[in-house]
Amino acid sequence: MECDAAGEYMMKYMDGILSDHEAELLNRHIGQCSRCKEDFLIYDGIMADFSKMEIVEAPDGFEELVMAKIRTLPVPEVATDSVLCVIWGAFSVLMGLGFIITMNKEAIMEWLSLHPQFDSLMAYLQPLSVTVANVSASMTASFQSMAAQMSQVFSGFRYVLLVIFGLLAVVQYFVYRKARFRSSDYSDERDKVEA
Ligand SMILES: [Zn+2]
Repeated sequence: MECDAAGEYMMKYMDGILSDHEAELLNRHIGQCSRCKEDFLIYDGIMADFSKMEIVEAPDGFEELVMAKIRTLPVPEVATDSVLCVIWGAFSVLMGLGFIITMNKEAIMEWLSLHPQFDSLMAYLQPLSVTVANVSASMTASFQSMAAQMSQVFSGFRYVLLVIFGLLAVVQYFVYRKARFRSSDYSDERDKVEA
């Protein structure tokens, strides 16, 4: 008998479908082949362990206990916080872009006019830019009057912009920290419940 066949018989033995004749053949091979004997002892050991195992049933009320624990966990408020963060982030990005475009409008328009592939875009933008110019002129005027007042403290409009961006960054940092604090607070609570 070959080792391959012995291995197959061992599988049949594990499944409990080994015939008496096959059992005899396997027994004879194991008596001669130390490698297969070792394999058989391992398989037999596993089988014995399995038969010793009992199916462990969850204690009564286990499911209710778990559900009760889950109900005591605080509901995370991350969802609304992250929505606010996204809105705030989008708002400040748009505001920043608006400032950059307004301050460099001439340069951008000039650059666009130098590149013929943007001709159609320019045709669309130029009448629009006239309208925007009227709006932005009044906006710039109000910003400049604000800047003029603030320039008594800070020298120049650019520094005012820096201050505005700095304030935006600080507010964003606190929103972020609040969200982080909340989530760590939440995990602490969960650890307490688990302990
Ligand atoms: Zn063998």
